Amino acid sequence: MKEKEQRQRLLRSLRSVGHFIGQLLLEPARCLLCGDNVAGLRPEDFCPLCADFFANLSPIKTTLLGDDPLLPNLVCFSGGFYEGPIQEAIYQIKYLKRPELALAMEAAMIPPAVSLAEHIRLQCQDQTKPPLILPVPLHTTKKRERGFNQAELLGTVAAKILKSRCESGGLRRLRATSPQFGLSRSARRHNLDGAFAGPAHFPIGGNFGNLTKNILADREVVIVDDVVTSGATLYECARTASACGARVVGALTLARARWRDDKGRDETNQREMVSETLVPALSAEKCGPPDQSVRRRRAFF
Ligand SMILES: [Zn+2]
Repeated sequence: MKEKEQRQRLLRSLRSVGHFIGQLLLEPARCLLCGDNVAGLRPEDFCPLCADFFANLSPIKTTLLGDDPLLPNLVCFSGGFYEGPIQEAIYQIKYLKRPELALAMEAAMIPPAVSLAEHIRLQCQDQTKPPLILPVPLHTTKKRERGFNQAELLGTVAAKILKSRCESGGLRRLRATSPQFGLSRSARRHNLDGAFAGPAHFPIGGNFGNLTKNILADREVVIVDDVVTSGATLYECARTASACGARVVGALTLARARWRDDKGRDETNQREMVSETLVPALSAEKCGPPDQSVRRRRAFF
């Protein structure tokens, strides 16, 4: 009887080992982004093609011109244009709700972060501590709906690279705004007017997250977002931080939208551009989800 029991136990163990090996064979490791099947890949890895793409990006510099005398312009560095694997990554992060992908974007964020650090070094010779990272806030309803704010996750990545701190409660979005795309100058302004607030806009110790003091006062800050289109949102956040006493030393995004001039000519071959954020002379292409028909596996390369 005892022998029979032992034999059955051994059979059960063998069956579970077999099941485990079967699972391994059935579910080989897939690239975090394109889903390609590569032997020996860990779940948090990209395939060599995706990894190469992100490792070889050249940062794009955009100077956003504003109309606030406190902040005449805002220099933004982006990892790459909003196309190909970067567009796919942003789509998957936001619409397929994959926060882990945002946290894996370090390789794409390093070149623009390094350029930004150099820009800050040249601007602020007396800088003593790294700038505070302020992600562009999502409205509470939208954040609840998505479950996370991708700008916050990218802000965490940026803070790691710049050896700084990401303060996700530093700015707040007071109301949901419509997408800026296709709006006229006055509509853009009206859309963002009073949309954001910083700790100086509320009584200290009051209802502004867990902040007990105005952490933005006299502090160098960097605004972080996933993608810059016209630049109006980034500029408005920078203006809000600046009104709270912060010195906004730059902005950082994963992607920058393609821009076209008034004749529809593509300006994206320029890696360094100046834009009047509130003047839609250069219009950014809409940064919505990519066309499903071209979203086949690896179609983005
Ligand atoms: Zn891949």
